Amino acid sequence: MEKWKQLLSRAMTDPAEAARHFGVPEAPLRRAAEKFPLRISPHYLSLIREPGDPLYRQCVPDERELAPGLLDDPLGEEAHSPVPCVVHRYHDHCLLLVSGECATYCRFCTRKRRCGCARAELAAGIAYIAAHREIRDVLVSGGDPLLLDDGELEAVLREVRAIGHVEIIRIGTRIPCMLPERLTRNLCRMLKKYHPLYMNVHFNHPDELSAPALDALERLADAGVVLGSQTVLLRGVNDDPEVMRKLMEGLLAARVRPYYLLQMDLVRGGGHFRTPLETGVAIIDALRGHTSGLAVPHFIVDLPGGRGKVELVPQYLLRKEGKRVIFRNHRGEECVYPEV
Ligand code: SF4
Repeated sequence: MEKWKQLLSRAMTDPAEAARHFGVPEAPLRRAAEKFPLRISPHYLSLIREPGDPLYRQCVPDERELAPGLLDDPLGEEAHSPVPCVVHRYHDHCLLLVSGECATYCRFCTRKRRCGCARAELAAGIAYIAAHREIRDVLVSGGDPLLLDDGELEAVLREVRAIGHVEIIRIGTRIPCMLPERLTRNLCRMLKKYHPLYMNVHFNHPDELSAPALDALERLADAGVVLGSQTVLLRGVNDDPEVMRKLMEGLLAARVRPYYLLQMDLVRGGGHFRTPLETGVAIIDALRGHTSGLAVPHFIVDLPGGRGKVELVPQYLLRKEGKRVIFRNHRGEECVYPEV
């Protein structure tokens, strides 16, 4: 068995074991894990310093997940799913959900409602993409697509790449953060054959940029995979400009372009992670002009019901005085710009 599979088989999945490991009461953990499974990879477990720290909060079940309200399918994916493995919300790109498994189950996950797409349904998904000539961009996601075997993943990539109208393939994954051992040289060699290939990795806290994670990102970048990141804004985890600056600068140094900072979706069981919209805007305000522009992500709200993404930006344009436009710069100074 490959090393990464052995490691995955040793992931923590038993609430009693988790309670013993962290020295916390078992009953609340068990109740929350009955709703949404517990899995923590050995690598991620090794990064948790103490109960309640930012990494612990992301993966250890919490009774607040049982709170009523919010939505099972906050992005309306079911309503935009013409066949089981495909979500087609935008005209020219779609999601292809190839795996229901993740190396660690994030407690804030938008797809808490579902953990998978049967392999047999994949063929229908690929046939749908082949039949829709307007789709030029396919995001392979899940679950985590990198939990497929090399052979299974290559079969998906080969079939999608063979569709003439598909220009780019993107992979959405949290594996470099959660199970970096999976990013083997063989896997990277295989990925190289399917360019232009983009990968959106998912990191939420600077402590996740461990040495093995950075090595994995280096192997991907050396294989020519274009790396972008997404980060979910989470109360008590990363809702702090300084934490976010460290994360974004760390990603950029690892050749990952920070792409999205996502407002927490309205997913049932995730309400305790939500922050006011102003928090995200204030974070962007604290980054713009205070670090490299490349380290500033887009702050995005994915509107409920699949209505699409909108970007929120700080207010830099203060007022107009005739032909004079008054801006505020990153130092808070008012600056006059002459309008045409
Ligand atoms: S890795 Fe992604 S899909 Fe899997 S549980 Fe975490 S957020 Fe959800």
